[in-house]
Amino acid sequence: MSRPNILIVMADQLAWKALPAYGDSFLATPHIDRIANRGVRFDRCYTSCPLCQPARPSLWTGRFPHETGVLSNGRNFPVEPVSAAIPTLGELFTAAGYRTAHFGKQHDMGGLRGFAHIEPQKEAEVEPEHPAWPVHYDTRRDRYTRLRTVEWLRETPADQPFLLVADLQNPHDICSWIGVNQGEHTDIAPPGGLPPLPANFATGDLAQRPLPVQYICCSHNRMSQAAVWNEENYRHYLAAYYHYCRRLDGEVGHILDALEARADAAGTLVFFLSDHGDNMTSHRLVTKQVSFYEETTRVPFLAAGPGLEPGSRSALVSHLDLLPTLCDLAGIEPPAGLWGQSLRPLLEHGKDESHPYVVSEWHTEWGFTISPGRMVRSERYKYTRYIEDGGEELYDLQADPGETRTLVRDPGHQEILAEHRAILDRHLQETADPFISLTWKADSRWRSHPVGYPNHRGPAAPMVEE
Ligand code: ZN
Repeated sequence: MSRPNILIVMADQLAWKALPAYGDSFLATPHIDRIANRGVRFDRCYTSCPLCQPARPSLWTGRFPHETGVLSNGRNFPVEPVSAAIPTLGELFTAAGYRTAHFGKQHDMGGLRGFAHIEPQKEAEVEPEHPAWPVHYDTRRDRYTRLRTVEWLRETPADQPFLLVADLQNPHDICSWIGVNQGEHTDIAPPGGLPPLPANFATGDLAQRPLPVQYICCSHNRMSQAAVWNEENYRHYLAAYYHYCRRLDGEVGHILDALEARADAAGTLVFFLSDHGDNMTSHRLVTKQVSFYEETTRVPFLAAGPGLEPGSRSALVSHLDLLPTLCDLAGIEPPAGLWGQSLRPLLEHGKDESHPYVVSEWHTEWGFTISPGRMVRSERYKYTRYIEDGGEELYDLQADPGETRTLVRDPGHQEILAEHRAILDRHLQETADPFISLTWKADSRWRSHPVGYPNHRGPAAPMVEE
């Protein structure tokens, strides 16, 4: 086969479990299903950070956030652009003779460097479908991104292999939705009824969990805005979240139609993934921040196209595997020193083995509260550690997939706990991760109310002038 075209369709804040391709029954996503039905579905793919700006340059360079240096979304914790010494996906593919173009969300701090075309982020007109679901910049930008991506696919000749990214933002519009529905409020009834709350909605043993997790409401605007919601309000959140997922799916459909109309469609590999997930009301949490629960760290990852063997894969994979995989498929030598590895054997032969564990990192959103944390996800367990108070969690994801009970103090799990502490310690050494020397910052105001998100009152740290 000559060098394949590559189309990457990105979503923002899309949890794997929101998609019918991963078993959800409330939502219909016929277009994302078009990729899943003829392709490979990775069931256990993890982001390197459950936050937009650290996750994205990490994805585009195949490096952990502690390697790119992009640890936050900015503001009170500014970050430098990704060093020119770190090769990016765009640079590698442009240098190899690919026609490279990126449309949509950037938020990359230089991670997109090297793409020959980077479309400026603009908005296009979109009518709200229903008053319960207002549209904001995410939805309007997605319309612009889709229109421009489709134009590009129509107008670009099939005389050179391409790497094209359609970087869509939904269901991220749910963040603005919380702003509209913050605090005590009366919901506007949406069409189609309300989804049920998930089995892990209760906060359960929150008092046993690390302090940064106990007080997420204090470090995160959106969590503080949702703190006094009742159960029905949370179900409205889910209904709106699914709506923005449907918006995403609609835009994906137009992009796939435009691809399929091209002469070189059969030679194109399509990848679909998200930068991170969304809590979807699990543990009474909304959006993403600080914690590493499955809903925010585990992301959908689909791939379809020539040479791939359709079906599901249960191997543990990471965002960091994307760059070496794409290089392998395009015959490009990957940069040295990457932790990630090519998934080509998994894609082409279904060879179901990969990393013994994957890692995700957290530092801060805006710098007002700093809570360095790490997650190790092994074959069966999830272990987390935070610098503040040395807080830890351990979940048996086989027996407790909803992460309802931390086993850190369970006498029967001390050996497993020690094993996972050792995995993390070794990983920190192997990747020159300075985690243990990092410092945390949390004003006592943000650790003061009785444990439980519903006990939060008033603003969160980022809303208060320091
Ligand atoms: Zn709070």
